[in-house]
Amino acid sequence: MKMFKRILFLSLSLTTLGLSGYWQQDVAYQMNVHLDEKDKVITATSALTYINHSPDTLPEIFMHLYPNAFNPGTILDQEARRRGWGSVDPEKAWTGIKIKQVNRSEIATTALNFSIFDDTLLRIILDQPLNPSDTLRFNLDWTFDIHSHFDRSGWEDGQFDMTQWYPKFVVYDKNGWHKDPFGDWGEFYGEFGTFAVTLDVPEDYIIGATGVVTDGDPGWVNVWVDTTLAWEEWNQSNAATYQSYRNNLKEGTRKSVKFLAENVHDFAWVASPDLVYEHGRWQQKDVHVLFNRSEGPKWSRKESHYGERALAWLSTQFGPYPWPQMTIVKSMGGGGMEYPMLIMDGYDSEGLVVHEIGHDWFYGIFGNDELDEAWLDEGFTTFQTRWYQENRYPNREDRMEDKRFNEFERQALPWLSRTDQDKNDVLSYIMSPENEPIAIHSQDFIHERSYRQNVYNKASLVLQVLQRYLGEKRFLAGMHLYYKRFALKHPTANDFIKAMEDGTGEDLDWFFDQWLHNTGWVDYALAGYEIQSIGDEKYLTTVRVKRKGEFFMPVPVTVIGPRHEQVTANLDNFRYQTNGTVKIQSAFKPVNVVIDPDDIFFDANRLNNDKKLHVTARYRVYGWANYRPDAYTLEYAPVFGFTDASRAKLGLNIHGTYRGWMR
Ligand SMILES: [Zn+2]
Repeated sequence: MKMFKRILFLSLSLTTLGLSGYWQQDVAYQMNVHLDEKDKVITATSALTYINHSPDTLPEIFMHLYPNAFNPGTILDQEARRRGWGSVDPEKAWTGIKIKQVNRSEIATTALNFSIFDDTLLRIILDQPLNPSDTLRFNLDWTFDIHSHFDRSGWEDGQFDMTQWYPKFVVYDKNGWHKDPFGDWGEFYGEFGTFAVTLDVPEDYIIGATGVVTDGDPGWVNVWVDTTLAWEEWNQSNAATYQSYRNNLKEGTRKSVKFLAENVHDFAWVASPDLVYEHGRWQQKDVHVLFNRSEGPKWSRKESHYGERALAWLSTQFGPYPWPQMTIVKSMGGGGMEYPMLIMDGYDSEGLVVHEIGHDWFYGIFGNDELDEAWLDEGFTTFQTRWYQENRYPNREDRMEDKRFNEFERQALPWLSRTDQDKNDVLSYIMSPENEPIAIHSQDFIHERSYRQNVYNKASLVLQVLQRYLGEKRFLAGMHLYYKRFALKHPTANDFIKAMEDGTGEDLDWFFDQWLHNTGWVDYALAGYEIQSIGDEKYLTTVRVKRKGEFFMPVPVTVIGPRHEQVTANLDNFRYQTNGTVKIQSAFKPVNVVIDPDDIFFDANRLNNDKKLHVTARYRVYGWANYRPDAYTLEYAPVFGFTDASRAKLGLNIHGTYRGWMR
């Protein structure tokens, strides 16, 4: 009876949330992992549990074997060659996961048949199909011949970056199995569950991983940075102490460390004898930071604070961080990468930390399919990172981090806001013939730069337009409903849109249909206006706007008075209309009329938004791609030459541009 009540309550609350009919599978991994650090081989057993919450009977189970992609001739290798990225060239004859046996483990042990296809997919054929709400328990014996560092994983200089390193359940959702092979574009999709992972490693290894330590010693205490001392001072004495500790260890001494992680869809770990440890804390959450001694001057006392601030920011804006810790590790690769409770960054950067920890919301908590709808994770975290940076550094005090500019540009030149800079960059893509829509499967983008420009940059600006159009309060109301409905679940773009609509009480299909599925842009021009005195010191301005871009938006129109007084009204009848009229009453006689003066709607050409001439001039600095979006820029530079009479001549070369690439 008690059970019945609980089930009834659960189904009622799912219905109230608008989630009736939603289900997701439940998985548990219990893995015993032995790392042979000399031969770079993992030998492991996985005791696995799979609970079928779907309404379907499953005759087979599928798992990913991602590391098998890093071999010559694989799908990934062929795609990389086709795109001219070079080829996979392992140092060993073959690297990847080998399955030794698969056994059903409930009553009597039964060997199950299996096969591997598309390089990275394991099909396990069940002796009896798995019925709805039934549980399957089985064991996998496997080995992983670890590749040297490639992309985001592997070993290098004694460090093991273990990501996508184990046989991992393929997600089964309302669209069936997501049997995507591991190709050159696109990321991951994981089934939520529990990971209990025991790592058997050399005694002197320092480990960072998804989850919390429930048994054994991850090795942090011996290398715990004393941040009250200067880095060099601490490092010198600690390096000597640690070396003598290592020298005193008996050859082959090992340890076993157990990590437990709940409600996550992936598990990653890093191990090396050369890491040091710093601790941070935000509310009840630990922030573990692990980096190599050589990175000390850059990482010490900085990265832990970036982590704390990111957790505070993201929890406040988008919903609480549901896990007990966050680990930030210096990876052997160049960029950054996200895993539940753990991020790997190749270099020190606040923006990179905020981006990757942001993924613990947008992918970790909202576990979307990163291949089908990559913008749901990359677009959101790019958006929230820019928001964080502009909030914290309104005058770009963090510009020294911007890798797009050289030292001189960072120091000496006037700066645009991040938003304006990003808009210039994205528009140069949007207005090119290569422009593709945002909502495309990662592997289906045709043009080289389309993946990054769409799922990161364009999507992040679309979310910013939405936020500014709705206002922060309504936008966050929609985001919080999204969290309430889909935290620790598998949302799709439609689930996000529905949450936004329900949270704001506004139909938003017109907005998303255009931005997600079409390839246009926004450009409204001021066609003209008439000012009429309506008595009592009041004026009625009739503003005519013309839509020049493909997208229609309810753009605001502002009339400005002689003392900078302003009245704004939005274009009401905007859907599909080319021409529109906005009537604005004011208690002053307008001296100027401007469409969307704050550029809420990401207008491609802002020069036609009022009737003024906007021209600015500056000295030409080669490579300085920092153009004001509200003016046509004339760049000048002196030129030296000789006349026919061989007289030296000094001239001026002038060249004009809008946004740096429009003439
Ligand atoms: Zn990312």
